[in-house]
Amino acid sequence: MASFFRSPDPQYASGVEERPELDRSFESSVKGLHIIGAANGSPLLKTCINEGYEVIRALYRRMRPDKDQTSPDDQLDLVIIGAGPAGITAGIEAKRRGFSFRILEQSRPLNTIVNYPAGKHVYAEPVAMKTLGPLEFEDSSKEELLKEWGEKTSDIDIETGKDVKHIRKHGNGFEIELVHGEFISCKRVILAIGRMGNPRKLTVPGEELPCVYSAMLNPGKYRSKEILVVGGGNSAVEAVLALKDSNHVSLVHRRDTFDRVSKINRAMLEQAERDGEITIFRSARIIEFRTGEVDIEVDGRVETKARDVAFVLIGADPPTSFLKRLGVSFEGEWSLGRIPHFSWVFAIVYVIYGIKFGLWPFERLYGTLMAANVDPGMLYGILYSALITFFGLKTLKKYRDDPFQQKRYGYLIGAQWLVYFLLPWALYYVGYSEWWRSWGVSLTYPLGYYGLWDSADKLLSGSVLPWTIATLFAFLVFMPIFSAFHGKRFCAWFCPCGALADTVGDAWRHKAPRGVRARKVEFASTIILIITVIGSIYLVSDYRRFLEPDSVKSTYKLIVDIGLASIIAITLYPFSGGRIWCRFFGPLAKWMELWGRWTGGKLAIVPNDECISCGECTRYCQMGIDVRAFAQREQPLSNETTCCIFCGICVTVCPVDVLRVERRRP
Ligand SMILES: Cc1cc2nc3c(=O)[nH]c(=O)nc-3n(C[C@H](O)[C@H](O)[C@H](O)COP(=O)(O)OP(=O)(O)OC[C@H]3O[C@@H](n4cnc5c(N)ncnc54)[C@H](O)[C@@H]3O)c2cc1C
Ligand code: SF4
Ligand code: SF4
Repeated sequence: MASFFRSPDPQYASGVEERPELDRSFESSVKGLHIIGAANGSPLLKTCINEGYEVIRALYRRMRPDKDQTSPDDQLDLVIIGAGPAGITAGIEAKRRGFSFRILEQSRPLNTIVNYPAGKHVYAEPVAMKTLGPLEFEDSSKEELLKEWGEKTSDIDIETGKDVKHIRKHGNGFEIELVHGEFISCKRVILAIGRMGNPRKLTVPGEELPCVYSAMLNPGKYRSKEILVVGGGNSAVEAVLALKDSNHVSLVHRRDTFDRVSKINRAMLEQAERDGEITIFRSARIIEFRTGEVDIEVDGRVETKARDVAFVLIGADPPTSFLKRLGVSFEGEWSLGRIPHFSWVFAIVYVIYGIKFGLWPFERLYGTLMAANVDPGMLYGILYSALITFFGLKTLKKYRDDPFQQKRYGYLIGAQWLVYFLLPWALYYVGYSEWWRSWGVSLTYPLGYYGLWDSADKLLSGSVLPWTIATLFAFLVFMPIFSAFHGKRFCAWFCPCGALADTVGDAWRHKAPRGVRARKVEFASTIILIITVIGSIYLVSDYRRFLEPDSVKSTYKLIVDIGLASIIAITLYPFSGGRIWCRFFGPLAKWMELWGRWTGGKLAIVPNDECISCGECTRYCQMGIDVRAFAQREQPLSNETTCCIFCGICVTVCPVDVLRVERRRP
């Protein structure tokens, strides 16, 4: 039973990796320290290059290059650490803009690319994305790319053999300590160290043996060998393809599909398997490497295979521990350092709701306003609508090239003013005593619960009866039919809670909790749905002996309305994104989700086969859905399988236009 009410599993197939918290200029929580490229999770050459360009452009707006430097010991404007595509582009742009800077590289320029397998085909994805700065490129071999970029960067001074050990705050700038003992002083640091320094490990016995490698540099070196490649991404597949002609190659992958591999690589891998050129062990894992052989578990059985060489190509981790040592905060991370931030956000939110509801210590202010015939609820409505409008206009500007988002934000702002503010308060000012019941219809029970929280006598009395019928109609007829056609679209297109979440909360949408633990908390919305309905039955039946109706109403209002939906949810915006209320606790959202699932829903987010696995869709989904997992499997995402609200943000942020919102044909 509980599993039925829960959201189904596929939406949480995998999470997204930890990312440092950065602002739009890639500045981290350590002021003056900017993190660009693969080190912050940027997935591809083009995206890394563009970040190198953008960071200098953003810095140029904030600081003027210091042209008065006379001695080499003067504090530099910038130090760029890492000479990959991101760091070099930053260097080229810094030079063009007149900054004083040094580029420090521990190994050699473009080391990650130099380490690609010989002859590797380099994909210039996304095809439609333009590169900023001179490092433009098209599909080519590794060697051609290095030759071309070598010529373009010949006049940039890159200091090789400079391995950065530590970065410290020093006065109003930084002191950089190199492994060989040199210290460099600068105003700002641009960290572009990539992630190849942290190859992932299997952590199985024998991984440290000779001939077990975490990179494959030169496939031409191997002839007639028994080679084992471990991994399921592009690096592993490309290694298999490069080695297969001269060796006997086996690939071990822990899953049964190659979702994260590009379309071209997947096709070539499958062809090689069909032609009997390679062996693939799917849903398999390495148990132990020994000299000359390896134990692999496949379908619960352990098989021993001969091997001369093994390549463990299971990706690399971002330099998380290095960044944490520097004091950089990560997205979604909770620490004691956040207490002051949390406290002042809580204080502002509490003052607003304290005045609105007359909570301690605002009882007198509340009474004074009421006595002056100024309802604090109306002042709150003006503030709420104004915030939605102000941040909504900002968001409209941000998504100005996207007609879908323009329309959606237009609906949200329009509904807020017309349906949720002007209509009820106009009824109030013409002296209509049941004015507030309009929210019971437009917010729809069980969100606007008060429309059905009274004794039967009251609900059936002359002036209230039409509202009761309208509320029941909205709850039992309109919402189920609407959800059957539109799923949970109401949340992202009409609802005032959703409007605040998508306007004020837009800047923090990437902080939404994800993963299996978050999913368990979502069950709270089912509990609140059940409590709301039981509360209605209790109050309608007017059964007074057990609990006083007024105390039932005030307790529910305090915990759910004031507590969860207002103070807690809004305080958490900067820390967990804007959808805490409707995703984890909102009973109406759960009601729509259930109808969406029962009826199958008519809307779906449909991927094509061009996904580059960048993860941006998953990162910006406030509902915590792993959109990338669906895109990788080319599987549509609907309310049958997820709690999607069809905000379309995943479609908007996808850099290669993989996704689209579609009405499903019967
Ligand atoms: C095998 C493989 C194949 C790939 N194929 C493609 C492809 O076809 N298309 C595509 O778009 N992308 C591809 N990529 C991804 C692409 O290479 C990366 O996105 C890109 O190189 C990241 O650029 P970056 O400048 O952020 O980091 P990197 O290129 O990794 O450069 C970081 C630099 O920092 C240096 N460094 C690290 N630590 C320190 C330190 N402490 N002090 C000083 N210097 C330091 C490193 O030596 C390195 O030179 C591939 C990646 C791999 C591993
Ligand atoms: S449409 Fe919105 S809620 Fe649905 S998957 Fe995309 S980002 Fe998430
Ligand atoms: S569907 Fe998602 S993971 Fe795939 S390319 Fe688009 S944003 Fe990236």
